[in-house]
Amino acid sequence: MKKQTVEYDGLCIHVYSFDLMDSRMYMIREKEEIFVVDPSVDDELLKDAGDAGRAVVFLTHEHYDHISGVNWMKEHFSCSVYSGSVCAGRVKSEKDNLSSRFPFLFLTDREKYNYVRSHFSLPYTCEVETSFSEKGELLWKGHRIELYEAGGHSPGSSLIVFDKKLLFGGDNVLDNGRELWGTDGEPRHYREKILPMLRDLSPRMMVLPGHGEQNLLGHFLEILETRHKTEED
Ligand SMILES: [Zn+2]
Repeated sequence: MKKQTVEYDGLCIHVYSFDLMDSRMYMIREKEEIFVVDPSVDDELLKDAGDAGRAVVFLTHEHYDHISGVNWMKEHFSCSVYSGSVCAGRVKSEKDNLSSRFPFLFLTDREKYNYVRSHFSLPYTCEVETSFSEKGELLWKGHRIELYEAGGHSPGSSLIVFDKKLLFGGDNVLDNGRELWGTDGEPRHYREKILPMLRDLSPRMMVLPGHGEQNLLGHFLEILETRHKTEED
């Protein structure tokens, strides 16, 4: 998948894949402004944005594959970046945002490894303009965007709710079983904090995950409840 458009309950969401890891960037346009989640560098977004000059950017978490386009966005748009407060601190550290280790994810694949080495300016850091502790809310073009700090997949992970219709779940809401894979996330925290937060939301919400295909929250919850019921700490 390179690019697709998802229509849900009157909303049109542009979906872009950062193809090395299928990390997903999302964009919603309202006339001269765009709302973007987890930016990566992708000229397709510039085409879809047309003459929109202002961007409101939200980050689901601090990992490099979800923030690699923040500085690029700032070159192309008048841009405000929002995140949870823990995330805002960690994107500034090449160690915490994992960018210093990013090429090593591809050590077993020479071709990808060389591509990463030559195409990405690493290590990488960026800045968040506005951060929310625990919970934050922004009204944008008549839409209500809520951010809930959650932890789980990473210390700086948040859940982002758009109009109570869409959930940008970052890497906490995945159906590939990798929500805690390769991170310092704790199974117990996941069970006791993340799952209850997800249960509180409507299962009819459309989840736009950090990797892979979108689906209803009910679908993801069924998978996640089963996976995390029996795991021991
Ligand atoms: Zn991640």
